[in-house]
Amino acid sequence: MPSRSSATAALLNLSHELGRESRALAILGEGNASTRLSPGTFLVKASGSNLATLDRKSLTECRAEGLLALLKRKNLGDSDVTAALLASRVDPLARIPSVEAVFHAWLLTLPGVQFVGHTHPVAVNGLLCSRWARSFAERRLFPDEIVCCGDASVFVPYTDPGHRLAQAIRRETTRFIQRRGQVPRVILLANHGLIAVGATQQAVLAATLMAEKAAHIFAGAVSAGTAPCFLSSRQVTRISGRPDEHYRRKALGL
Ligand SMILES: [Zn+2]
Repeated sequence: MPSRSSATAALLNLSHELGRESRALAILGEGNASTRLSPGTFLVKASGSNLATLDRKSLTECRAEGLLALLKRKNLGDSDVTAALLASRVDPLARIPSVEAVFHAWLLTLPGVQFVGHTHPVAVNGLLCSRWARSFAERRLFPDEIVCCGDASVFVPYTDPGHRLAQAIRRETTRFIQRRGQVPRVILLANHGLIAVGATQQAVLAATLMAEKAAHIFAGAVSAGTAPCFLSSRQVTRISGRPDEHYRRKALGL
């Protein structure tokens, strides 16, 4: 486990990279990012703060336990969620964490996941608001998309943001892991946005940027004809198993 100060510095850096205005991944208060601090606690962006200008005061340390318990409860009201978010703060004077802290808490329990970044990228969201949303998640168009975003992404049908969305993310991601035997790198939320997870801040940024590039290419392919020419599952498996691609992933810190 990295030291608290290095984890904080890495999370601030990732937040600033994800919030860079020219990248159009998140504007104003959109998006959030988190990192694990200890087996039971994590650091996440406070509600309403801006990724691009995030500072230490806008990060809230949370205990995961109470937020994870929300995932198992039915018939929860908004006030129950707010109470759990407030109670999760290690420092009771800290700002309230983002409502999306619930899915951050769960994703940070997955093996190998140390950082989570959630954004609303323009090109990705363009596809997620179209009939191509599921194909964009489940198919691949070019080798670097596989290297940075994995063989496929989790697809989550539109769900009301908050604890219901966190429950849907847990359900679809668990199915993905059971089916494929691996933790995803990217989770796509229909009509909403993207979540990237990884062992390093570089992996989260790379998956986010490459997914956005892939979305531009997908949209270009659609506008050039009737349907994109997807790579076959054999071609995808070949790329993800190639030793030189493993080397490239390692060199890029992915
Ligand atoms: Zn969001």
